[in-house]
Amino acid sequence: SNTPVKVAVTGAAGQIGYSLLFRIASGALLGPDTPVQLQLLEIEPALKSLEGVVMELDDCAFPTLAGVEIGSDPNVIFDGANIALLVGARPRTKGMERGDLLSANGAIFTGQGKALNDHAADDIRIGVTGNPANTNALIAMSNAPDIPSERFSALTRLDHNRAISQLAAKLGVPVTEIKKMTIWGNHSATQYPDLFHAEVSGKNAAEAVGDQAWIENDFIPTVAKRGAAIIEARGASSAASAASATIDAARDWIKGSAEGDWISMAVASDGSYGVPEGIISSFPVTTKNGDWEIVQGLEIDDFSRGKIDASVKELEEERDAVKELGLI
Ligand code: NDP
Repeated sequence: SNTPVKVAVTGAAGQIGYSLLFRIASGALLGPDTPVQLQLLEIEPALKSLEGVVMELDDCAFPTLAGVEIGSDPNVIFDGANIALLVGARPRTKGMERGDLLSANGAIFTGQGKALNDHAADDIRIGVTGNPANTNALIAMSNAPDIPSERFSALTRLDHNRAISQLAAKLGVPVTEIKKMTIWGNHSATQYPDLFHAEVSGKNAAEAVGDQAWIENDFIPTVAKRGAAIIEARGASSAASAASATIDAARDWIKGSAEGDWISMAVASDGSYGVPEGIISSFPVTTKNGDWEIVQGLEIDDFSRGKIDASVKELEEERDAVKELGLI
């Protein structure tokens, strides 16, 4: 049908928003034949700036953009939303302790979880980009008891895409030759980009590289610290690639992952691979018709086990901290 799909975006006047909205409006998320209604949330002081962004959206005259609504009340902006991309979050500022960061974001994501619970459409799918993304997703999920937990995810697709790009460059192959990349764990410096199950032109990626030292000392830290490297080079954060990954993740979730491949997505664990149930951790997943499934049966060697466990431990600590704050 040609009823517009309602896509809610939070933090819409931010850097990521400035890339993300134009791509969604131009059809990069749902294709050229699906009209999109954008419902944009911002905090009160950013609404004027957001009005300017809306003027630019108007000026693009995108054929797929059916309408735009803006506001600062999540109960209004999430009304009838089919997809919610939670980009806005409270960034860590100088001198801020982790507890302060978690409680500032706790206030945002408890409120948004409740608003989604009460107002979103029955088919709602929620992707969290704002950091700390995994734990923000956990908070929103815990405050939305009527929304099935599998409708929540946090973004590790940018890390996934970075890992593909680094590996392709190392081996001098196009990115299209790389399949079955996996990011495990938290979207943080402890994340584990896994080459032992990835494939290059159908062959095992770790074997194709044949250099454990490069994997440990070069590849993994380069992927994990790529955001900082971009800030260092550009003087601003990696907003366009974060927006692109946010679209890749939501598009594949809804339209399905490619045959013979998988994607990385942080989702509520069912206990797979020894990750405690309920924690929002990144896994290899396949998607179809808006549902995801964790890829089963991968053999995890001691090296990978240690890396996954370290990142999951960090997620458990974050969960315990927000539990202590009464946020979940
Ligand atoms: P960005 O648009 O650059 O980033 C938004 C969030 O995405 C941050 O939490 C950021 O984390 C995270 N992020 C995830 N991956 C990346 C990546 N690869 N590169 C950069 N960021 C990444 O931030 P801005 O400050 O420009 O914009 C945020 C907007 O959100 C502001 O306009 C603010 O007003 C709004 N906001 C809206 C809220 C709401 O709608 N209720 C609530 C809170 C904020 P990190 O901090 O780690 O960089």
